[in-house]
Amino acid sequence: QEQLFRAPFLARLYATEASLRKEDSSTEGNSFKGHDMLAPFTAGWQSNDLDHLVIEKSEGSYVYDINGKKYLDALAGLWCTSLGGDEPRLVAAATEQLNKLPFYHSFWNRTTKPSLAFCLSETEAPDLAKELLETFTASKMAKAFFTNSGSEANDTQVKLVWYYNNALGRPNKKKFIARAKSYVDWSIDYLFQFSCWEHSQLLIIIFEFRWYHGSTLIAASLSGLPALHQKFDLPAPFVRHTDCPHYWRYHLPGETEEEFSTRLANNLENLILKEGPETIAAFIAEPVMGAGGIQAAVKKYDILFIADEVIRAFGRLGTMYGSDKFNIKPDLVSVAKALSSGYLPIGAVMVSPEVSDVIDSQSSKLGSFSHGFTYSGHPVACAVAIETLKIYKERNILDQVNRIAPNFKMVLPDTSPCNILSLQIRGTGLILGTEFVDNNSPNDPFPPEWGVGAYFGAQCEKEGMLVRVAGDNIMMCPPFIMSPEEVGELISKHGKALGATEERVK
Ligand code: PLP
Repeated sequence: QEQLFRAPFLARLYATEASLRKEDSSTEGNSFKGHDMLAPFTAGWQSNDLDHLVIEKSEGSYVYDINGKKYLDALAGLWCTSLGGDEPRLVAAATEQLNKLPFYHSFWNRTTKPSLAFCLSETEAPDLAKELLETFTASKMAKAFFTNSGSEANDTQVKLVWYYNNALGRPNKKKFIARAKSYVDWSIDYLFQFSCWEHSQLLIIIFEFRWYHGSTLIAASLSGLPALHQKFDLPAPFVRHTDCPHYWRYHLPGETEEEFSTRLANNLENLILKEGPETIAAFIAEPVMGAGGIQAAVKKYDILFIADEVIRAFGRLGTMYGSDKFNIKPDLVSVAKALSSGYLPIGAVMVSPEVSDVIDSQSSKLGSFSHGFTYSGHPVACAVAIETLKIYKERNILDQVNRIAPNFKMVLPDTSPCNILSLQIRGTGLILGTEFVDNNSPNDPFPPEWGVGAYFGAQCEKEGMLVRVAGDNIMMCPPFIMSPEEVGELISKHGKALGATEERVK
């Protein structure tokens, strides 16, 4: 067992889960060696220890592995399958479009009906750009640009903003500010620390924000996670990172949440002034609480606000967008994932009329807007996305999320068998982050080589539930369509995994 916690750091997060899977007789024979595949976000792919959990089938909120073991999918794939794993209407929409027109591109004034940026007539079938723009009401959006992913959407944001500033004759206004997870937390020094097993208190911190904007060159640069930068020669030099809005961990003694938010907004303003407002083009963030001061600061210096709504859009927080919930009025918005319930790859950027007008006239001058992807506005992905948005509306998906969200939040701390500190759990709809720290102190992380988070994730898997493990951070983000009974099952499995983890850490 001790070996599990001594595994080399990079292999630890996933290899530990795989190792525990091997011990679990119910999953025997399930694993596949992945040596032919360079798997995304998977370390040590040459290692003999590395086994993949192979998922074969999905049904509602559940997925099944190749041995038939059933898992409650508490992460909806990767924040994707909002409508669950077997929505027949999405399959039918894809099939119908595949039979009619499986592919055509949208370059050079050619396009296809499902993606078309304007309606041919009132009676025509809906087009995705129009449907999508109608869903966003926090601020006015004029145009939608289609990508294949959230990363491509965020990369596109940077290109659009640069193009916009060049058109306005502001060639120096090019830097981006994004949020960082504290570099201290991820310090490599922890790898070499050795600690003994005399810890009995497992503290769980609830958090609701993330620092991830994708993994392409630019999106990874914007992401405030050192792991995405190390050895990749990132971040790109035009990116600056500002404070992490993690009140509980980073507030000063006696500082209220409002004072904390104000301090962060002031820090942002100081960063803008230090760099020179004429050099800062945009601020990108996932909409989280306390962004009011930040919004004012960026507006003051004519800096664009980009809302990364890739995991929050379409109801995850109980509002259509995170921007609605936190009263954010962005200039540009990125979406993906639940846009098609994850059934086909598609993302989009929504652009305000002010930005779109400038880009439009600049591209007319140049004779081209030379940006796009072969699969921008892929007709089958667009057809599925149109049907997804239609289902959200017909089934009142926001009501559904708001119905189950209060139960979902019960996952902590009442049902937990652990001796944990009870903390405020924020109204975040169907998104819940937890973090294990030691000694009831937010400033006392477990040594990474212990793999506490990975152990918890492995215990969930053993119980028949899949969660996201990132170090000692655990993320749950279940499908919108979960029934109250399934939420109860999630809570029970979470509690069992927590109990086993506390036993292990004692
Ligand atoms: N932005 C956010 C907030 C995300 O959570 C993600 C992915 O998880 C991305 C962007 C990147 O999206 P993709 O993996 O589709 O490129």
